[in-house]
Amino acid sequence: MSEPRSPKEARRLERLKHGSRAARDVRSRAAARQRVHRPPPVLGSIQAGTSDEPTVVFSKRAVDRLAEGHVWIYRSDVAAPANLSGGEVVRLADERGWFLGKAFYGSRSQIAVRLLTREDEPVDEQFFVHRLAQAIALRDVVRPDPERRQAARLVHGEADLLPGLIVDRYADCLSMQTLIEATDARRELFASLLERLLAPRAIVERNDVRVRSHEGLEQRKGMLRGENPGAVEFLEGEVKLVADLLSGQKTGAFLDQAENRIEAGRYAKGRALDCFTYGGAFALQLARKAERVIAVDISEQAGAQGREAAARNRVENVEFKVANAFDLLRAESEAGARYDTIVLDPPAFAKSKDTIEAALRGYKEINLRAFHLMSPGGVLVTCSCSFQVDDATFERTVLQAASDAKRSVQVIERRGAAKDHPTLLGVPETRYLKCLILRVL
Ligand code: SAH
Repeated sequence: MSEPRSPKEARRLERLKHGSRAARDVRSRAAARQRVHRPPPVLGSIQAGTSDEPTVVFSKRAVDRLAEGHVWIYRSDVAAPANLSGGEVVRLADERGWFLGKAFYGSRSQIAVRLLTREDEPVDEQFFVHRLAQAIALRDVVRPDPERRQAARLVHGEADLLPGLIVDRYADCLSMQTLIEATDARRELFASLLERLLAPRAIVERNDVRVRSHEGLEQRKGMLRGENPGAVEFLEGEVKLVADLLSGQKTGAFLDQAENRIEAGRYAKGRALDCFTYGGAFALQLARKAERVIAVDISEQAGAQGREAAARNRVENVEFKVANAFDLLRAESEAGARYDTIVLDPPAFAKSKDTIEAALRGYKEINLRAFHLMSPGGVLVTCSCSFQVDDATFERTVLQAASDAKRSVQVIERRGAAKDHPTLLGVPETRYLKCLILRVL
């Protein structure tokens, strides 16, 4: 904790540490009654009892946020001992000393505290084994694949109560990201535990992501276990895909869209267009039912990967084009082209609050062009992975595009990320991907 910069701040910190007498004195009678019913403090829940972790004290606002289900608490809402270096497990207490939970503490990010557990339990190796096993158990239920030929997200960070840890499985290999100080410091531990639980052929580290800079962590990628597996083949539905775990985008592929791609394939028909195709994963699903698919990406490398993937699946009805999807959509609609199936899966247009307006213009434009291009009865699969743009806003933007294009639109499905990317109730940040399957009348 930094030194107070003013007497006012000193008083605020003091209150955070010891509780405010003023606040106690003005408590309503109802609150006083509630207090009477509270169970007496368990010995050890005021002073560290089960462990000697340092205690971080929560303001009232932080206590409320935790009670509302959130797991991130900002630095301005906590008082932490000055000697914390970041990355440690801390006990959480309210201003009166009541135990609230245990968390990872971060010294750099504005998110100072990320909840691990609301129980007073030891956070040791056994704890992490249990958390990992819990996470893997969900995937065994939602995507049972004992042969491990598919890809799946095994650990989805905060949504699996393992904040700052991402683990994806591609067939028999794992790709791992440790995005915060605490998980980065424990990456060897996680690699060993994953090795023990899953016996993977290799574990790749993909810590070459910008979010790590908020934590003061450098960009890094390489092998944690085993040899570089190169291109790893896996199945998505009936389609064979390949991910280069060391050089592909994200941890190798965009696994959050896996179920949406398979679903899109079910509706595909006639002439199809897959915009922002990357390695052709949507296009190859569409190709199973559509007569012909045009797949567009701005990146040459993506186009080359897509062609390879098509060849691997012996698919001949997909044409990969390297182009700006905005330009291509405009040119096609000006030329009066018609499509029966269109997929729009752009990168996140809104990366921060400041870019929401521009992002919405981007979403509106591509959806408007797509509506102009749709033949009657055609299917539009339209996605947004911008967390900043929530479901309602995205849907409103798509509606504006539809009405500008004078099209009536049925909603066939409102979808999100695949089930192996769970969201945590109370943590909107874990719900970012929107996918609407629409039928244009
Ligand atoms: N649909 C893909 C994932 C798409 S990721 C899948 O399911 O796997 C977004 C892709 O959009 C990236 O490959 C990126 O190269 C591409 N891209 C970004 N801007 C673009 C633009 N203006 N036109 C076409 N492609 C673009």
